[in-house]
Amino acid sequence: MSGLDPASIRKRILIVEDNEDNRRILIYRLKKFGDFEIFEATNGIEALDVVRSAHPDLIFMDLKMPVLDGWETVRRIRAMDGDSKQIPIIAVTAQAMGGDEERALAAGCDDYLAKPIVDSQLIKEKLDRLLPPN
Ligand code: MN
Repeated sequence: MSGLDPASIRKRILIVEDNEDNRRILIYRLKKFGDFEIFEATNGIEALDVVRSAHPDLIFMDLKMPVLDGWETVRRIRAMDGDSKQIPIIAVTAQAMGGDEERALAAGCDDYLAKPIVDSQLIKEKLDRLLPPN
């Protein structure tokens, strides 16, 4: 890694969410807090591909998605070989659905964020806590 300025290495954030509007909102808010390299996936299968190919530093994970839901996707990430299984994951939950947060943590998520994502300061706190340092 010599010769690379650590400050120039952009953090990679994967957003897994089947609703395009929700992806756009989260990306808009994230961009206030850093020059992140953003990856997007619309279901769990796509997410697993991105985890393997791009090795993101942090994942925002919607839970209710077609093809492969967030809970099962998190379980599969946590069962991976190598460093990928330790990527911090923030579940993005529908506020009205009681019990989703507990199930997300039980599946291996580190934290959760309720939709709609309107509180930028809350996102900042979670980034500070969960994004690994350079
Ligand atoms: Mn969804």
